[in-house]
Amino acid sequence: MQTDVPGATSRRKPLAGKTVGIDPGHNGKNYTDPAYLHRQIWNGREREDCNTTGTSTNGGYTEPKFTWRVAKRLRALLKAEGAHVVMTRHNNHGVGPCVNRRARIINQAHADVGIDIHGDGGPSSGRGFAILLPVRDRYNKHVIHSSDRWGHVLRRKVLNGTAMPTSTYDGSNGFNHRNDLAGLNLTKVPMVLIECGNMRNATDAKLMTSKRFQHRLARAFAKAITTFALRHRHHHH
Ligand SMILES: [Zn+2]
Repeated sequence: MQTDVPGATSRRKPLAGKTVGIDPGHNGKNYTDPAYLHRQIWNGREREDCNTTGTSTNGGYTEPKFTWRVAKRLRALLKAEGAHVVMTRHNNHGVGPCVNRRARIINQAHADVGIDIHGDGGPSSGRGFAILLPVRDRYNKHVIHSSDRWGHVLRRKVLNGTAMPTSTYDGSNGFNHRNDLAGLNLTKVPMVLIECGNMRNATDAKLMTSKRFQHRLARAFAKAITTFALRHRHHHH
């Protein structure tokens, strides 16, 4: 049972003054506009497609729906902690934006930390989540070490807070460094991309389509963000 503690309401919320960028991968109507998706953008190292449709479970539950559900839940949790939250899209029935624009939205908000949320479409026998970390380039060079620390906090909270194991096929121990993703190449804030599980694996798909897991995952993300943001409160960029 919880009782009101005198003075509790006047206590500063843990994320007051913090800005968090959330990028829910893809968008629900991306499949309707292939010409837009195939537009070539600069990802910091090379040109690539503006966006993709994302993957889905064998049962047809789509990645954009999954990422949107988790992002929405995460946003509510972070706002309750006092954070200012910036999202790269505002619903799951639109197209885009392109991946370079998503990075710019979070950069321009001067977010203290950012998270790109995805689900993977891996080999059906493979399981688990992978945290993708940036590789130093001319855009992200000031946030390589902070992104690495952020990734380690996130990994611990996801392992502690959910039933999802680290990936059996992507990277090692739940980490992979990637230099081919705009969200990581172009970031100027501490940023990781998490493939929350393999939507093509039956066990992972069962978890990822359940509201219970989605809520637990969002809770783990929120805890990780709070831990990271408070620990690194003296690091300004
Ligand atoms: Zn994706």
